Amino acid sequence: MARFRIEFEHPDTERDFQRHHLLRTQTSLRLTLCWCVFFYLAFALTDVAALGFSRETFLLFVSRTTFVLAVMLGLHYVRTQPESIAVPVLAASVIELVGMATYLVIVWLRPDEIQGQAMSLCIMLIIVYVFIPNRLIISKGIAVIATTAFIVIAAARLPSTEALKLSMRLVLANGVGLVAARRYQRLWREEYRVLMDYKHLSIRDHLTGCYNRRHLHDTVLPSEIAKARRHKQQLALIVCDIDHFKSTNDTYGHQAGDAVLRHVSSMLRTLTRHHLDSVVRYGGEEFVLVLSQTGRDGAVSLAERLRLAIATNPTTDAMGRRIGVTASFGVQAINFATAGRTVTEDRLFAAADRLLYEAKESGRNTIRVDEWADDSSVRTMDSPQSRAYDTSDVC
Ligand code: GH3
Ligand code: MG
Ligand code: MG
Repeated sequence: MARFRIEFEHPDTERDFQRHHLLRTQTSLRLTLCWCVFFYLAFALTDVAALGFSRETFLLFVSRTTFVLAVMLGLHYVRTQPESIAVPVLAASVIELVGMATYLVIVWLRPDEIQGQAMSLCIMLIIVYVFIPNRLIISKGIAVIATTAFIVIAAARLPSTEALKLSMRLVLANGVGLVAARRYQRLWREEYRVLMDYKHLSIRDHLTGCYNRRHLHDTVLPSEIAKARRHKQQLALIVCDIDHFKSTNDTYGHQAGDAVLRHVSSMLRTLTRHHLDSVVRYGGEEFVLVLSQTGRDGAVSLAERLRLAIATNPTTDAMGRRIGVTASFGVQAINFATAGRTVTEDRLFAAADRLLYEAKESGRNTIRVDEWADDSSVRTMDSPQSRAYDTSDVC
């Protein structure tokens, strides 16, 4: 975490945190600003009490109304762009600036009450630091500018010892506000980090770092099928299983088997697209790859690259032994633009698993592929007529 800004060093992590926190940010922005508007307007009564119905009172009313308008405009943008993480920051910053500027106009036009106004400014500073959700660095900048401007006005109006005492109080308010803001900004981010750690543990496989089976069935597969169906996109599922892995374990031992699993999974993850594809350890030495926006040809060429990479890159275990393995692949593709009405998670998975079984039957270290067709989905389930790829020329 950046010590000065109290934000995550990595911009992507900070953006994810802001997105995670967005609803809370919007709610607290709305609530705090509604309270601020209420008090800004309520205090107009004190303008009338102090100045009567004068020109100054009218100017103060215009000032207060400007703040209310800024709040309404800011909240309108936040409401109309609920997905944006930049809009709440922009709205909070502009509203804080307008709020402080209009308050300085009030201070300027009601010159006899500077001590009471200093107390009000202290409260406003705490609101800016702690209650209005904003980036700490921006809140700090606005608070310091407003405090400096106020001190300049106070120095022009008060004897120097009084001005000094008042300035000390304002500096203290800034200090308290800053410490409180740093604490809660840090606390929220620590809470988020712990949450992400637990989430990571619950969706990842401990040995390989791939997604686990539960995450595949709870999240990846349903959401990818729904997305592809909604946008009429292509989707492919690859089931991959290491060949004769039992004998690898028997020959080299379980530890070496684990090293092979780590090595194979790292190849699977390296050769797939980072944010688009999902690599899952389904169990034992079986992996599932969900490839979004990928058609039959793309899926086959990826499976072929993976097959080749696994067959030609042996694992070096802790004892320095080189352990070669091969893997077999079942590739099921669907084009939701033309088919896919009959697709369910279970049927899709069963189809890909059956293709893997065929690949194993036909001698291993090979790929079997099929494309989903609604009118022949029963065929795909019961007696698939998949295409074999001759891999003997590559390996
Ligand atoms: P096939 O080519 O038909 O897939 O044969 P296979 O030997 O790979 O398949 P089988 O299901 O007979 O054996 C799978 C082996 O995988 C048995 C089990 O000991 C091993 N295995 C499962 N999980 C792990 C693990 O986490 N670590 C290690 N080292 N081995 C594992
Ligand atoms: Mg196997
Ligand atoms: Mg297996």
